[in-house]
Amino acid sequence: MPVKGASGAKVAGASRTALVRRARRINRELAEVYPYAHPELDFENPFQLLVATVLSAQTTDLRVNQTTPALFAKYPGPEDLAAANPEEVEEILRPCGFFRAKTRSVMGLSKALVEDHGGEVPGRLEELVKLPGVGRKTAFVVLGNAFGRPGITVDTHFQRLVRRWQWTEQTDPDKIEAEVGSLFPKGEWTDLSHHVIWHGRRICHARKPACGACPIAPLCPAYGEGETDPEKAQKLLKYEKGGFPGQRLKPPQAYLDAGGKPAPPLGAA
Ligand code: SF4
Repeated sequence: MPVKGASGAKVAGASRTALVRRARRINRELAEVYPYAHPELDFENPFQLLVATVLSAQTTDLRVNQTTPALFAKYPGPEDLAAANPEEVEEILRPCGFFRAKTRSVMGLSKALVEDHGGEVPGRLEELVKLPGVGRKTAFVVLGNAFGRPGITVDTHFQRLVRRWQWTEQTDPDKIEAEVGSLFPKGEWTDLSHHVIWHGRRICHARKPACGACPIAPLCPAYGEGETDPEKAQKLLKYEKGGFPGQRLKPPQAYLDAGGKPAPPLGAA
């Protein structure tokens, strides 16, 4: 049965042209809502981003950001982590959950970086996904944010939101990536990923989406899945949208306003 957005527009069965137009319009609106969207993991180089992204599975970026300073202070590069005592690494990673598996992954990928890539993080998808514990999602985060290569990050938020918006009916992350990717120019993929993930973390939550406070409600076929009362919805907002800090502990200066909160990059409209 066709579903309706807050605007009442029917979308199920819409033509591909209409789908592309609506998807791009949502992304444009989100770009205005989150002009400062960026990776929420603290990192200073591709190695740190790669490790932090692996650690972020099943936990928040904030938790990872609280953990990685001690890890990188003790093991600054892949050579150091590859040669570490696993039990000491496990102790540092314990707050991130699944710390034994994560220790194996980050030590394994560090060894592979040292043995196969001269201690450098490769900038190609095919090589990144061969590293232990690194899937396409992690690889695209690294490619998009450390190498400037466009990529779509299909995490849990991305999967939930693009299905709510009926951009795809796929459930397999690789198929979601392919179908959603085909709706946008490649050059927009990385920013699109940030916009969607930021919206999922702040407004369009898994269990209680804040529909009544959602700036893209008129475009959304799933409007009404969450709280529609504006005042109650406002209370569901998270991070800077709810008046709280963001997830990064060391955000690049360009992403902060005078009060230290996330803000549009300097010079942005
Ligand atoms: S919060 Fe509600 S209206 Fe907004 S995108 Fe999510 S489901 Fe749609």
